Amino acid sequence: MREKWTPAGWRSKPAKHIPTDYPDPEALTRVEHQLRSYPPLVFAGEARNLKAKLAEVAAGKAFLLQGGDCAESFKEFHPDNIRDTFRTLMAMSVVLTFAASRPVVKIGRLAGQFGKPRSELTETKDGVTLPSYRGDNINGMDFTPESRTPDPERLIKAYSQSAATLNLIRAFANGGYADLHNVHRWMVGFVADSPQGKRYQEIADRISEAIDFMEACGITPESVPQMKQVDVYTSHEALLLGYEEAMTRVDSTTGDWYDTSAHFVWIGDRTRQPDGAHVEFARGIKNPIGIKCGPSLDPDELLRLIDVLNPNDEPGRLTLIARFGSDKVEAGLPKLARAVTKAGRNVVWSCDPMHGNTLKTENGFKTRPFDRILAEVRAFTSILPAEGAYPGGVHVEMTGQQVTECLGGAAAVTEEDLSSRYHTHCDPRLNGQQALDLAFLIAEQLRG
Ligand code: PEP
Ligand code: MN
Repeated sequence: MREKWTPAGWRSKPAKHIPTDYPDPEALTRVEHQLRSYPPLVFAGEARNLKAKLAEVAAGKAFLLQGGDCAESFKEFHPDNIRDTFRTLMAMSVVLTFAASRPVVKIGRLAGQFGKPRSELTETKDGVTLPSYRGDNINGMDFTPESRTPDPERLIKAYSQSAATLNLIRAFANGGYADLHNVHRWMVGFVADSPQGKRYQEIADRISEAIDFMEACGITPESVPQMKQVDVYTSHEALLLGYEEAMTRVDSTTGDWYDTSAHFVWIGDRTRQPDGAHVEFARGIKNPIGIKCGPSLDPDELLRLIDVLNPNDEPGRLTLIARFGSDKVEAGLPKLARAVTKAGRNVVWSCDPMHGNTLKTENGFKTRPFDRILAEVRAFTSILPAEGAYPGGVHVEMTGQQVTECLGGAAAVTEEDLSSRYHTHCDPRLNGQQALDLAFLIAEQLRG
């Protein structure tokens, strides 16, 4: 039996990937204290609504689309970037809804996705060794001792950027931009002339026709609010627990604790130790949560995590995000899925086809071949039904921008191309075209 949960209880557990080298720990405490008095970024009721929608996904009646940057950054903070991520998610969701005939639950990896767990704690360049970059809410990308020193003030800046990002997302979602009449506008410019762009155009034309028909019958956005607005939720990895703790508040309606930094938070593949700090923190908040499940997770440990994180088997509470790699998914996923099905546990299964498919090119870029990403999604959608489970979602690192970070896709990004528009602050993302391409593939898989 675990002891009574408190928001700070994680502090007495072993914590991986949380920086301990702040030069002035008291300054960090002061910042955390300050954050405690800041407004919540999301409401508990919204997190509950998302949980109810995820319960529909768990039941096989809807599909989860979760996507955004690997790491948000102060430098790339711009309304155009937020808009392009938003509309790419909308376009992907149109493809999935239309072609797979099921509602799509949309969660952005945004408005708080800053902190990064790093495999290497230090980085060496030209004989100089410095701490690794750990995300803009901790330290800076520049390879200097000053920049790589953790600075607590960055947490305040990350909070403000998250608030502004979420504000814009809410405006896009409810202020007219997400009106189905705008379906043609959600395709990002550079995607329009591609084969996926043309396929999207066809769907958009058919949706427009259907809207005209419905309106002629008297069914209008006024009578059907879903035609003019959408729900888009936010998420990030709950890595920096001091920040998450500061944002965790009691909901006045239910008396329960919610982490108000995002609707959904997940535990990363490197921090999911059942007796560790991250699991301890997550067990007490009522938000829907995710667990990344990679090759090093064995079925018994997964069942143990499920017991700790969802003891009452509440539908929608837990999303298992499989991230094996196209070469490991066949060996690793079936036994996890089988164990969960056999134990009769209620979960959403989602596929992160990004994190197991990262490689380094000869010219030194961290990249992901689009073919392997597709191969992992394909394997996921065939393995789960064979194990009596529903392939319920996808979790991707993506942007609406025309970046060249992942290899391949219809525009055939080559190793030589990578350097031309490689902007990510951490892992390589799908560009707008690759993201849409992936949506078409998933829709085909789900249909068929
Ligand atoms: C991530 O989602 O950016 C990440 C670090 O993933 P994982 O924990 O699965 O490696
Ligand atoms: Mn990543």
